[in-house]
Amino acid sequence: MAEFVIAIDGPAGSGKSSVSKEVARRLGFGYLDTGAGYRALALHGLNNPGQEIQQLFDSFDYAISLDPDHPAVMVGDEDVTAEIRTERIASAVSQIAKLPEVRKFQLEDARALISACNMPGIVVEGRDITTVVAPDAQLRILLTASEAVRLARRGLENSESAENLKARDASDSKVVEFMIAAEGVYLVDTTDLDFESSVAEVLRLVEVVKHG
Ligand code: C5P
Repeated sequence: MAEFVIAIDGPAGSGKSSVSKEVARRLGFGYLDTGAGYRALALHGLNNPGQEIQQLFDSFDYAISLDPDHPAVMVGDEDVTAEIRTERIASAVSQIAKLPEVRKFQLEDARALISACNMPGIVVEGRDITTVVAPDAQLRILLTASEAVRLARRGLENSESAENLKARDASDSKVVEFMIAAEGVYLVDTTDLDFESSVAEVLRLVEVVKHG
């Protein structure tokens, strides 16, 4: 079990994944992207049309590496790391993320992965990490940025994907509140921070939590 858990929530394009990975690298921690589980399950559902949700869970042979340099995602024998990042999956994933049984399944999976992590710490990121999955994490952060900045970072201004990203945030925020920091959660607004400053701010908060 990793002793120091850093939980990071935030909307798409907030810098959550890149910042979390870099923080994990610098601290020698594991890195868990919980969105990958939702994406892989969405892919599994698309590849197995007609299966009941319980059947999908039963046949979902999912594995994810906790190495921030190689966060490979496998379903069965297939490496789906690249495929789960496609627009096809991005536009399907919020639909399944709404289902309570899917959220319960993913919650248990994420907690099992955190418990099994044998590194000194782990950075876990995803929409409901600070509030639902790891509310007792040593450090909890909500990473945000203005919508304009989030779209620009993804190079998505005025594109169809921009509409998808906005729709995904709107749909996700009906399921879990990830735009407002819950009590005890540090808010890091990266609208005016570059990548390095965002990483430095998270590392500073680690020191604050460790040493007061
Ligand atoms: O973080 P990422 O954009 O890869 O997440 C993909 C989708 O998975 C989100 O849009 C959301 O619907 C869902 N998700 C979630 N809770 C998490 C992580 C992801 O609902 N902890």
